[in-house]
Amino acid sequence: MLTLFFFIFGTCIGSFLNVVIYRLPLMVRQGNAANNDAFNLMVPRSHCLKCGATLSASQLIPVISWLIQGGRCRRCAHSISCCYPLLEVITGLLFAAVFACWHSVLPALALCLFISALLALAAIDLSHMLLPDAITLPLLWCGLLWSTTGTGLVSAESAILGAASGYLSLWVTYWCYRLLRKREGMGYGDFKLIAALGAWLGAESINFILLLGPLLGCVYWLAFRFKKSSDNFPFGPALIIAGLIWLFLQAPIMCFIHNNESLSRIFLFFNSSIPYK
Ligand SMILES: [Zn+2]
Repeated sequence: MLTLFFFIFGTCIGSFLNVVIYRLPLMVRQGNAANNDAFNLMVPRSHCLKCGATLSASQLIPVISWLIQGGRCRRCAHSISCCYPLLEVITGLLFAAVFACWHSVLPALALCLFISALLALAAIDLSHMLLPDAITLPLLWCGLLWSTTGTGLVSAESAILGAASGYLSLWVTYWCYRLLRKREGMGYGDFKLIAALGAWLGAESINFILLLGPLLGCVYWLAFRFKKSSDNFPFGPALIIAGLIWLFLQAPIMCFIHNNESLSRIFLFFNSSIPYK
């Protein structure tokens, strides 16, 4: 029953994430993320982007409103992207999966907060090539603080090492690439994102994220390189998918790695001294 509650709760949070994903990049670009009484995450009320009609409470029910209205605005019939209900369903499913895996309400709520921030970051990076400090930095601090409560996924020591080693590994890669190629290979937002992932998931996760993330990034680049004129692609979603895979499948991944001699060596090569909890 509580799993169903987490699913419904997730769809509601997903609905709010849609607002964050649309408005936060505009707020950052306007340089007024901190205070603007006329435009922020709460004001103005949700409305149709075409005709400006304010949405009533019955039009704000996650997924259901979109289905009832056939994916169109009730007043001007302008089509509403299926990305909105899709994100609500994905958030609901991930929240339900978190509770199904962890069973305890408080740790599950903390992880739901973590997942919400990651989903918002992935969507903003995909559409704007931007990872706002307004999300990455609080996420990093929350991860570090959570690790000190004793209810976190990892020890405080592992969280601090994860944040530092994640940030430094991409920072070093960035500068090596910049010195060799005389141009930027990634953004500073990627360093802060992987530091936040390390703070929540621990030092052990960084090796996995650094192995899988670039692979996923290459797949994305190969899939969409014909559509885009630029070689640039968002790296954040690749890191986030790798982080989420680690979050849910950490035990089988570690088992697979320890049973595979060459993979095990790669992991040990990176850091054999980091404690694994
Ligand atoms: Zn409309």
